[in-house]
This record gives sequence, C-alpha cells and structure tokens, in this order.
Amino acid sequence: MIDTLQKARPAVDRRKDGGRPGSRGRIVRVAGPVVAAVGLAGSRLYDVVRVGEAGLVGEIIRLSHAVTTIQVYEETTGLQVGEPVVSEEAPLVVELAPGLLGRVYDGLQRPLNLLAQQSGAFLQRGGHSPAIDRERRWPFTPAVSTGDEVRAGAVLGYVPESETLAHQVLVPPGVSGRVAAIAAAEVTVDEVVAEIEGADGALHKVTLRREWPVRQPRPVAEKAPPTQPLLTGQRTIDTFFPVARGGAAIIPGGFGTGKTVIQQSLARWANADVVVYIGCGERGNEMADVLAEFPHLEDPRYGRPLMERTMLIANTSNMPVAAREASVYTGITIAEFYRDMGHDVLLLADSTSRWGEALREISGRLEEMPGEEGYPAYLASRLSEFYERAGRVVPLGGAGDDARTGSVTIVGAVSPPGADFSEPVTQNSMRVAGTFWALDYDLSRRRHFPAINWLQSYTLYKLQPWYREHVAPEWPQMVERAMALLQEEEELLEIVQLVGPDTLGDEQKAVLAVARMVREDFLQQNAYHPVDRFCPLEKAHPMLRAILLFYEKTQAALAAGFALEAVLAQPITRTIARMKEWPIEEAPARLDALRDEIDNSFAALLEEAPGAEAPPAGREKRP
Ligand code: ADP
Ligand code: MG
Repeated sequence: MIDTLQKARPAVDRRKDGGRPGSRGRIVRVAGPVVAAVGLAGSRLYDVVRVGEAGLVGEIIRLSHAVTTIQVYEETTGLQVGEPVVSEEAPLVVELAPGLLGRVYDGLQRPLNLLAQQSGAFLQRGGHSPAIDRERRWPFTPAVSTGDEVRAGAVLGYVPESETLAHQVLVPPGVSGRVAAIAAAEVTVDEVVAEIEGADGALHKVTLRREWPVRQPRPVAEKAPPTQPLLTGQRTIDTFFPVARGGAAIIPGGFGTGKTVIQQSLARWANADVVVYIGCGERGNEMADVLAEFPHLEDPRYGRPLMERTMLIANTSNMPVAAREASVYTGITIAEFYRDMGHDVLLLADSTSRWGEALREISGRLEEMPGEEGYPAYLASRLSEFYERAGRVVPLGGAGDDARTGSVTIVGAVSPPGADFSEPVTQNSMRVAGTFWALDYDLSRRRHFPAINWLQSYTLYKLQPWYREHVAPEWPQMVERAMALLQEEEELLEIVQLVGPDTLGDEQKAVLAVARMVREDFLQQNAYHPVDRFCPLEKAHPMLRAILLFYEKTQAALAAGFALEAVLAQPITRTIARMKEWPIEEAPARLDALRDEIDNSFAALLEEAPGAEAPPAGREKRP
C-alpha cells in the first residue's frame, strides 16, 4: 500500500490562486457536464482541470490520442467552444486538518451555507474559498520528544478539535525518521509543528494540514476483524440486524419508506466518534432540515452538541450531477482520515442511487456501451470499490506501544425505482454490504416505522460473542425466539387468509398476539418521540425479555387450561405497550419491576382454578 502511495504524484494545492499551471488546451465540445478539449498533452486520467474562463473544476475521465474528455463538477451553462482548459496535472484532493468537524461542504469540499444557497445566493462558480480556516490557531501538545525515532502514522501530538475529540497529529504516510524539532505551540494549520529528519538526511516539515487524493484509499497497517456492533439506538437494527463497526449496510426502499429518517437517526444516535453525512442528489430541504436541527441536538453520550462530531457534505438535487461522485469520494477520504487517528467513523450516504444515476448520465454522454438498465458496465466495480473502503483497521503506526484501531462504517441508502430490489444499484450494493435493511412500502403505509422488513432483512456479521459478553449470555437465544415468533406469525397469517381465523387454536392465537407485541411494542420506534427515538440496549434487552416472559407464562397458562382471552385481559399487557416510553434513566428499574409484575399477575391468574368461581367472560377451560 505504501508502494502505491509513493507512486502517487504530489498533490498540488489547487486552491491557491491559479494553482500550478500545467498544460493548456481549448474546449472543442460541451455536452452537459461533459466537455471535450484538445491540447492537454501530458495529462493523466483523473487529473484535475480548470475549465473555461471561469475556471470550473473538472476531472479527466477519458484520454484519447488527441481529445481529452472531462467531467465538470460545476454548472457548465454558458461554456463555449474555444475557451481555455488548464490541467493541474494532479489528482483531485481533499484537505485534511483540524476544523473539519462541524462544517458543511459541497462535493468539492467548498464551505457551503446551504440555507443561503436555497435563497438563491449560490456558490460562485470556480470559487477558491479554502476548505479549512487558515487563520484559526490550535494549541498543539507534543506526544514525542526531539531525538525520538518515528514511523509513518506515529502520533506526534494532539490538538483539541472539539471538547470530546482529540485530534491526533500523525506522521504522514511515507515519512519516517528522527524528530529534529517539536514543541508545544499555538499554530495555524500551515505552521510547522514538527520536523522529521529522514535516513537520507532530508528534513520533512509537518503541519496540521494535509492533502490526499480522493480516489485513493489511505494506507493502513492491517485489517482488523469486525467484532463489535455499531450501536444505533434503533431496536430493530441493534437487535435483529446489527452492522459491525467497520462493516457496510445498505437501506434500499421506495420513496417515503424512511431511508432519510433512518440515516438521520443514525447520524444522531449511533455510537460513532465522527459522523460524515453525505447528502447525494436528494432534495435540498432534507439537508436544510438536518442543518436546522443538528445544532440543537445533544449527543446522548457526552451531552455535547452533536454537530461537534459531525460533518455534512451536501450535493443536493439542484447541483451538477457529476459532483455527486466527488461528494462520495470526498466524504470517504475524510472518514479514513479520522479512522487513522483511531476513531470509529460512521459514513452515511443518501442516496447512492443518485450517484449511480450520475454515472449513467455521464456514461451516456460518453456514448459508452451501456450495461444493465443503461448503467455503465463499471457500476459494480465503482460501488464495490466504495464499500470496500469501509473497514476496521490497525492504522499505520497503530501497532506496538500505542496500539489503536479505527473504523469506517458505511451506511448507504438506495432508492430503487418502483421499489424493485432486483435493479442494478441495489443488487450490486447487496453483493458488497454485509447488512441489508429492506424497507417495506406496506409497512410504511401502515405507519410501522422503521419500516424494516424483518423477513427480508439480514446481517452477515457474526456479532453474537459481543452480545453474549456485553448484553446477556442468553441474548442470541432471545433474539432467535423473537424472530421465530415473527416467522410463525407470517405462516399463521397465510393460513388465516386461506381458511379463516376459526381454524386456529389458542396456542396459535397466542403466537399471533405475542408476535403483535413484538412488532408494536418492540420493533416500532417513532423517530420523533422525545424518549423512544433513542433506545440503548440496556433498555431494549429488558423490553424484549418482558415480552418473551409474557409469552412463556402465556403458554403455561394455556397448558393449565386457561383461555387466551383471560391471559390477554391482564392489565400488564397495557404496561408492556407503554414501556418504550419510559425514560432511559428510569427504564432499567421499571423494567425489572415489570418482570415481577408479570410473574405476580400470572400467579394471581393461575390461583383461580379455571372455572372455580363464576368464570368471567372467556375464562372457561379449553375444549
Ligand atoms: P425516504 O427518504 O425513504 O423517501 P423519509 O425518510 O423521508 O423517506 O420518510 C418519509 C416519512 O415517513 C417521514 O417524513 C416520516 O413521516 C415517516 N417516517 C419514516 N421513518 C419514521 C420513523 N422511524 N418514525 C416516525 N416516522 C417515520
Ligand atoms: Mg429520502
């Protein structure tokens, strides 16, 4: 991996006025976001070019012997044949430095005020505003001393990027040697914090600001196994279909089934250190909602504003389609940057289908041979290259004394046309993501949210050992039992459909009643409820336990000859229906008490021998 890195050409700071002028050419054709130019000898695939008098940012996507084809990331209206094109002879890079968190960028990492954009004050095309504040001073605390030997990835020191996130300043990839100078200081991102003398005597000056080519995964020391779940506070996910830290999940669903709401819930409540949220080709008002809301939301773990750990990349539906691709790569590269410090990063992309559609549009303009449903043949490889950048890793320099692991978890929304999961973007994403949250139109129409279909969804990550250790030894069995009830419900409902409900005995009706409890009192979770929007496992576990205990006791009561109606008439069923609303602080104690209440209620029921006194309605012996 180091090899590929060293082969990469040094990134040029294209944001400094004018950048480094490379070869110059002229536009010969403009077709929407695709521009053809001549005279760009010496350029390479994916080099950045400045297009036209306005200096629009583009990337070379095809080279032929005379003509260079460029996808332009900005609005090309008004561009004319004959205007100049200048190659920067360097790939598209992102700036990496403290100060990324809390920011909102467009797909090219230009600071964005989305609200202003909606009111019409759009970004200036070809603008050069820096991604990172050049003036702000950061207190740097060294972690090594002059004379120490350091390798790539070693921690040189810290900067407090936020109240809760220590930003580690690492030796850049490809650099190693003896620390020639380092000291505590208040620095801007471009001032030198350390000097490292390589074996060849060359002096490498380290600043807080780095650049990295977006299409190139950052190197790691080694992959680490995905053994921990990313906890989301969403019961359906954490219980039945968890995604591993460092894993990938996709959320396919038709319009209005809740993709965006789930992604926003994850951005709020998942136990990630850093969240990178990419709004890709969806409506701008959804991002505006996030922007309006996030500054007021608190991180349930630290009680700090959520925005302090969040970065938003907005490439909304009214922005040029080609930039969707840039937004995806910019986002994942920033995620890897924080991963390398040893943080757990969550990357959300809403919606990857809009990126796929952009690929299709560009491919069509290039008159490439279309693959399935008009998507280019390389759709599958683009998607898998993206999802493969998820992972739990030992970063460079992360082995040995200051051992650390970091992770990037990717959660991608997919919007299949007509909610047809057999279409290419869903299918190709499924192949590479380990977790599949299938959103169901019928569930959403019945207001069962999150509308994750429990029979179609799955997770391939083997996380049971973690749950046994951290939740309860019997947790995997509990989950299995609950799922079995839901599956049995499905089969029984089919029978009812065919021959009517009268054929079912009380045991079967009990399955239906308890499966309904699992659905309504456990799986359903309102993202807007002040308490229930976030449910940690400390609460979800005793909730599920209560329902399963109720089922166990129900079976015993039926076996003892009691009618199901009597069992279901117990007031504790209403208590079970309310447990999701119990505040998190009170929930464990109240749920413990509920266990006793269930015990006592059934004990009282069983004490009355069936048919002993005048049986209330339904409390007769079964036939
Ligand atoms: P999509 O992004 O799939 O088009 P949205 O995420 O915008 O769909 O969801 C559409 C609507 O469904 C939301 O505005 C909301 O009313 C409802 N909804 C979705 N998920 C939930 C949830 N977990 N709790 C409550 N309402 C939800
Ligand atoms: Mg949406």
